[in-house]
Amino acid sequence: MKITIDGPVASGKTAVGRALARRIPARFLDTGMMYRAITWASIQQQINFDNQDALAELTKTLNIEVILEDGEQILKVDGTDITDELRDPDVELNVSKISQVGSVRHELVSQQRAIASTGDIVMVGRDIGTVVIPEADLKIYLDASIQIRAKRRHDEMRRKGHRIDLENLVEEIKTRDNMDSNRKDSPLMSAKDAVIINTDRLRIDQVVNLILESIQKS
Ligand code: C5P
Repeated sequence: MKITIDGPVASGKTAVGRALARRIPARFLDTGMMYRAITWASIQQQINFDNQDALAELTKTLNIEVILEDGEQILKVDGTDITDELRDPDVELNVSKISQVGSVRHELVSQQRAIASTGDIVMVGRDIGTVVIPEADLKIYLDASIQIRAKRRHDEMRRKGHRIDLENLVEEIKTRDNMDSNRKDSPLMSAKDAVIINTDRLRIDQVVNLILESIQKS
């Protein structure tokens, strides 16, 4: 059983995907963390974002491990846990630039396909149903209004002790969605055969139940 969940920033993909994977049960992979890891490493190594060759080389050689620990996804680069760094403002600001680079996408997509090929999985991202696993058993596209998505992300950041202005967050989310939806290579979009769920008025467990119903019907 392979299930893909795509959608814009803060549409609930990760929370829903993780809970769904637990219920099935199946493995879970949040592919956004991989694009964030490349962004973090390229900032660390001061690689110019226009230098496609250097970014391609970095993506090929960086040893990324995504591990599920106590239900939380941990990302290690060369053995070091950098999960917390993946939400750094610098990473947040630049990840949609890095994810436009064709060679970075090409390498990460092949790593994601290799992971998917080894068993049941719920994989979450922007191009999973359209590009990474177009043959998936069920494809979900989650959406929600910009106000709701910004409010959810704002609450999540406050719980983690970060203070950020809601209006700024709305603008940041809009910018990232725009870049992700309008890039040339595998833009964010719903697969033709995806089940589209608007999560504005739904709790995580309600969305999970809807997906489980779709699995039974499919
Ligand atoms: O899901 P998350 O917000 O962590 O993703 C961070 C960024 O990584 C997205 O805004 C997008 O630019 C990129 N991404 C992507 N393709 C994926 C997953 C994420 O381009 N499959």
